[in-house]
Amino acid sequence: PGGMGGLGMTTTVVATNLSEADNIKVAVRVRPLFPHETDKGGTSVVQVTSNTAVKVVVPGPAGTSMQKDFAFHACLGPEVSQSDVLHLCGVPQLLDAALSGYNVTVFAYGQTGSGKTYTMSGREEVIAGEGYTGDQTHDGIMSRAIGHLYQQIDAKKADMRFSLSASYLEIYNEGIYDLLNLKNKNLPVKWDAALGFFVPGLKQATCNKLDTMMDVIRTGMKHRHVGSHELNIESSRSHSIMTIYLTSTPADPSAADFGTPRMGKISFVDLAGSERLKDSKSEGVMLKETTNINKSLFVLGKVISALAERDSSGTSSAHIPYRDSKLTKLLMDSLGGNALALMIACCSPASTAVEETLSTLSYATRAKNIQNRPTVQYD
Ligand code: ADP
Repeated sequence: PGGMGGLGMTTTVVATNLSEADNIKVAVRVRPLFPHETDKGGTSVVQVTSNTAVKVVVPGPAGTSMQKDFAFHACLGPEVSQSDVLHLCGVPQLLDAALSGYNVTVFAYGQTGSGKTYTMSGREEVIAGEGYTGDQTHDGIMSRAIGHLYQQIDAKKADMRFSLSASYLEIYNEGIYDLLNLKNKNLPVKWDAALGFFVPGLKQATCNKLDTMMDVIRTGMKHRHVGSHELNIESSRSHSIMTIYLTSTPADPSAADFGTPRMGKISFVDLAGSERLKDSKSEGVMLKETTNINKSLFVLGKVISALAERDSSGTSSAHIPYRDSKLTKLLMDSLGGNALALMIACCSPASTAVEETLSTLSYATRAKNIQNRPTVQYD
């Protein structure tokens, strides 16, 4: 489902808000320094110096230091609130593009503890808990985004009819687990010429109301926690993907494109921790797990590099190795082509995490160089 982005679309929304070169935007979010870091002598060495710049002061030997500067589409410091993240990263524009038939992905990348889940989901245990009051202070991008989505759908209802559904899965050790139905374990990924890569048996819940979509998010988050205990999954070692499938048709049956539904898709991806695990004394299952996490992030990096290289060389012939991991198979129609993506690279500001932070920022720099060229005709 959803592999038909671009069909019969009018592109005004996309053309005014996102230039072609912006098809992949990269943002960096630096979280606050925590007491457990200062307790170990950590100081803050990552500083957001403007809306688009971040500097890292890398401590060297004998009190020396070296400054490294990075530039991204958006740089967010520790003071930035959850509600500002949405707007500063341009999420509403991405959602509007999805409503017009684009495939859109929002990723969070970074080491464990850097704020990926906080950024994407908020405090999962609070949202998934029975006592959730709906206080959105700490809610992440996902639940805020669906609020915007249903508002837009309501505003457009005189002209367009939308139908929505959603799935929520976790990829762990190259196995797929359905977070909307925990009985669906270890599902395969299959290829279909019309659908592209898909997961047979994955629950796709119809969500024509905001409340039902919010239930999907809460159920998925709850199962992420419950399932992780039952299945012995460490959530920092899994990737989660929540996908919203959108189909729209003009409300007016006499409209020229009445019979041709537009399909858009939005994926929210919370990636496994990017820290290098090579030093861990992994054996058996743990070793396999470590290898698989590294593999899918490595393949995602290769896909990103291949897309970036293709763009800088101006050719479209480079092999993009989507098929090398389940993660990239499932994201194939959302990375490249005319899809739009936002990567949020999450960092700790601590001196104790500086190596991982530099590696995150260099991964993010590579992603910034991708300039997907829309293959659609603008009208
Ligand atoms: P990750 O998903 O990258 O492993 P988390 O999102 O779980 O990291 O963040 C680790 C801890 O830090 C959590 O307790 C989270 O609530 C907190 N945290 C992360 N980012 C922020 C932030 N910007 N402001 C306040 N607390 C944060």
